[in-house]
Amino acid sequence: MNLNFSEEELSFQEEVKDFLRKELKPELVTTSRKTSAVFTEKEVAMEWQAILAKKGWLVPSWPEEYGGTNWTQAQKYIFSSECAKAGAPNLIPMGLAMIGPLLLGRGTKEQKDYYIPRIINGDDYWCQGYSEPGAGSDLASLQCKAVRQGDKYIINGTKIWTTHAHLANKIFCLVRTDNSGKNQEGITFLMMDMHQPGVKVEPLLTMAKDHDFNQVVFTDAEAPVKDRIGKENEGWAVAKYLLEFERSGGVGGSKSLSDIEFIKKLVQKISSQHLDESFLEIYLTKITELEIKAKAIQYTSLRILSSLGKGDSPGPESSMMKTLVTDLEQEISELTLEVIGYYGIPFQDTTYGSNEPPIGDEDYRPIAGKYQNLRATTIYGGSNEIQRNIMAKAVLGL
Ligand SMILES: Cc1cc2nc3c(=O)[nH]c(=O)nc-3n(C[C@H](O)[C@H](O)[C@H](O)COP(=O)(O)OP(=O)(O)OC[C@H]3O[C@@H](n4cnc5c(N)ncnc54)[C@H](O)[C@@H]3O)c2cc1C
Repeated sequence: MNLNFSEEELSFQEEVKDFLRKELKPELVTTSRKTSAVFTEKEVAMEWQAILAKKGWLVPSWPEEYGGTNWTQAQKYIFSSECAKAGAPNLIPMGLAMIGPLLLGRGTKEQKDYYIPRIINGDDYWCQGYSEPGAGSDLASLQCKAVRQGDKYIINGTKIWTTHAHLANKIFCLVRTDNSGKNQEGITFLMMDMHQPGVKVEPLLTMAKDHDFNQVVFTDAEAPVKDRIGKENEGWAVAKYLLEFERSGGVGGSKSLSDIEFIKKLVQKISSQHLDESFLEIYLTKITELEIKAKAIQYTSLRILSSLGKGDSPGPESSMMKTLVTDLEQEISELTLEVIGYYGIPFQDTTYGSNEPPIGDEDYRPIAGKYQNLRATTIYGGSNEIQRNIMAKAVLGL
């Protein structure tokens, strides 16, 4: 396998760098770095999304008629890596990386024609209603009930850990339409409006005091039958298809390398203020160990991109990526916290728009909160223990 880029690819890389130099405002980079929340603030993510959409570079992997770029796998990789290196804000995945690809793969033509442009333009902001208070890892035991009445469903029940439900106008949900068979049978996939009388959103704060997720209570909420994806009672297969995209890990390696670069700069800055030279040495060894892991993930993600390029869906490799990327993210956040020592102890406000002065260097502000919030990455999207179960079965045949 030749890992060097061709001349055309190198010139594309220059085009991307040039675009980022011109369009990625420094405020977007600093504001997204400043937050400790797991997901980028809506305002910041949507501003970057609009810039990418205007350029036509928002959804490179989608079919051209729905906004895709028809780039090669190498171009997609170069683009995502350069964005990560430049510190571009992470985009919000629920529309672009979850319901969007699902609609393209499993939606009707009417659903695609209506919803896809709205996702790209930011007219709809989506959240995901899978988990319930009694159904997390064991998702198939979900009980939120939908009963069909003519051309609509009436929904009653509760969803939990619903990220950005307080900001979203749309939710895609798994609901129970039949209780008579196995748990996986009798589940249906519905899209519905958040802004209706039967939907109540109750905030849940993270331990770093960020408001990322919520509990959502449905009391006679309504969803039109035309907004069902797949057949009634066959939503489990639809849900599993979506989870493969949710877990595919994107360009995890490149994002991690950019976070590792940040630790390097931090260590250099701190060591220039210390007289003890061993500080730099100790951390450079630890940083190099993380760099090696990130590079290994980069190559794994290239392999997955190449199989997606042949039209495959991500498959069990997505479980592998999810586990590797999130474990590494946690290790990186642990080392960053270790580097700043006792500056990690006080609570620092990282709320969007807050003008609280930082304690210590401005760079220290989000580090402790990020460390705490990143505990979530090995839980959401299916916990890493569940991913290991999937790999044991699907990859190792155990
Ligand atoms: C930041 C964040 C954002 C989220 N956003 C959303 C969202 O937008 N929409 C949504 O629907 N959900 C969301 N979730 C919920 C997430 O999908 C669930 O938390 C996850 O599926 C785990 O479910 P649970 O929390 O009920 O834990 P449980 O299922 O109760 O698991 C508890 C522990 O037991 C382990 N465990 C459970 N079963 C097994 C098993 N069979 N083998 C080995 N170990 C096992 C788990 O790994 C875990 O460590 C989010 C979660 C987080 C943390």
